Amino acid sequence: AKTEEIDFHHTIREVVDFLAKEATYNQIQIEFDLSQDIKKIWCDRGLLQQIFLNITNNAIDAIGRDGKIVLASRKVGEDSIEVTISDNGPGMSPDVKRKIFEPFFTTKETGKGTGLGLSITYGLVKKLGGSIHVTSEMGKGTTFVISLPVKRSV
Ligand code: ADP
Ligand code: MG
Repeated sequence: AKTEEIDFHHTIREVVDFLAKEATYNQIQIEFDLSQDIKKIWCDRGLLQQIFLNITNNAIDAIGRDGKIVLASRKVGEDSIEVTISDNGPGMSPDVKRKIFEPFFTTKETGKGTGLGLSITYGLVKKLGGSIHVTSEMGKGTTFVISLPVKRSV
């Protein structure tokens, strides 16, 4: 990973801006709950954006139409950040949940999903020295929790 000084929340907002049209078109609200304690960090901006893009994109797909996604961040200790991406989509069965990080696993119709997004995301999070977990309840929604060790620069 290439380490550079980045504005963590600006990096997240850029990803959401990129998806905003599709979200608005489908009446999906994207809200932020970002901690003021997080400012500049040392991290690989491109990798971070791929991670948030994959997960937020999946949340939009899962909701389909009319729903809400919340991106929240908080500081955990001195050098760690936790980001949660929650959606109020249909959720996943325990069977699906078990397989989502496997390469080529998808529940999307042929041509709509490669099943690679989350396996790549898993690898990228590991590359940054972090961890990723998911909780999901059918009929309620899904939450991804990503923990990242970061070096603060400011
Ligand atoms: P793809 O998006 O190409 O299907 P991913 O690896 O990104 O591949 O996701 C794998 C599967 O995980 C999806 O097909 C879907 O079944 C499930 N999934 C991922 N995110 C969500 C979510 N937010 N809500 C419900 N299911 C999800
Ligand atoms: Mg995907």
